[in-house]
Amino acid sequence: MPIADKMIKMVESASMIRKMFEEGIKMREKFGADNVFDFSLGNPDVPPPPVVKKTLLNLINSETLSHGYMPNPGYPHVRQAVADYLNKEYNVGLTSDLIVMTAGAAGALNDILRALMNPGEDILVPAPYFVGYNQYAFVASANLKTVNSFPDFHMDLDAIEKAITEKTRVMLINSPNNPTGVVYTREELMGLGKVLEKASTKFGKRIYLISDEPYRKIAYDVEVPCMFDVYPHTIVLTSYSKELSLAGERIGYLAIHPKAEDATIIAGAAGVTNTMMYVNAPALFQQVVGQLQGVSVDMGIYKKRRDIFCEGLHAAGYEFDVPQGAFYLFPKSPIADDIKFVSILQENNILAVPGRAFGGPGHFRLSYAVPDKTIAGSFEGFKKAFNSVK
Ligand code: PLP
Repeated sequence: MPIADKMIKMVESASMIRKMFEEGIKMREKFGADNVFDFSLGNPDVPPPPVVKKTLLNLINSETLSHGYMPNPGYPHVRQAVADYLNKEYNVGLTSDLIVMTAGAAGALNDILRALMNPGEDILVPAPYFVGYNQYAFVASANLKTVNSFPDFHMDLDAIEKAITEKTRVMLINSPNNPTGVVYTREELMGLGKVLEKASTKFGKRIYLISDEPYRKIAYDVEVPCMFDVYPHTIVLTSYSKELSLAGERIGYLAIHPKAEDATIIAGAAGVTNTMMYVNAPALFQQVVGQLQGVSVDMGIYKKRRDIFCEGLHAAGYEFDVPQGAFYLFPKSPIADDIKFVSILQENNILAVPGRAFGGPGHFRLSYAVPDKTIAGSFEGFKKAFNSVK
């Protein structure tokens, strides 16, 4: 093998996802784009708000536009703008030195995990979980340890408490959640904060909470509690990939609670770990988002799609709770083998992802970051697939 032994498994799992992507391209060629219903990717199709383009154009024409190196954690004025916005929203007393601008949420996760994790330590994550976490844990030489959630995908705090050991350094959560769409309640999050405080005392080691929240703004008629209220030793990270539909621009940030143990040291470390990967977040889009704090795409578009999709799938017989956030559905597979059922969907020109890929076997994931007509056109195929196994 020409590639490193430790990379073989990682490359194999990455090529599984690529295979599905290529499958979609082939099917579109064969059946025509309008006859293929691809719900496999969480790639926002809603255009960014017009103010993004306007800001970009103004910047390009401005004398102040900068292209050079900068302090590795990002432009000071952009970090200040992010801190001001978060203070206005959450009144948490953040200073700009506790903000690191990153290459998306993925960049933020890589930076903070490499800053915090000793080799062999555990990152605890409720399952189902976002597949990228396997890779970020790998890069940080850490173990990803999963804890099953309740059937409604809310956290099982007793199971989490039992899973914490002296090896645990980080609890990683994601709400609104990919793949389940669940939004954790204030009560369960406050409960989690208590569990982490108790365990940190028990093991004489600070356990940090990382809140991965690129879907924070995509929530429907429900509170997404402020994570800084939950536990002081919290790092919140996010991106503009979903809320401004800028996934390809690779822009996001992490913010460390001012009261987190060793907050300044951690911020400094995260500003060094990024230099080992991508040096700094993209300059142009730092300058854009610095001017667009609090702006987001029209979430009504996703809400409408969710409602139409849920209604059609329920009518076809699928079982699931209506999710309160993100742009995913995670229905039960009508047969135990979710991989098999996803292949049956594929025979009906529908592309989905088996729940097993997210540590949620017996389910499948559908992304509704797709045009309305893709949803409307898919129901016949969903019905046929369901009826063929019943
Ligand atoms: N975390 C979760 C839960 C995600 O779903 C994604 C992307 O889909 C990411 C992190 C990475 O986001 P970004 O594209 O901003 O790096």
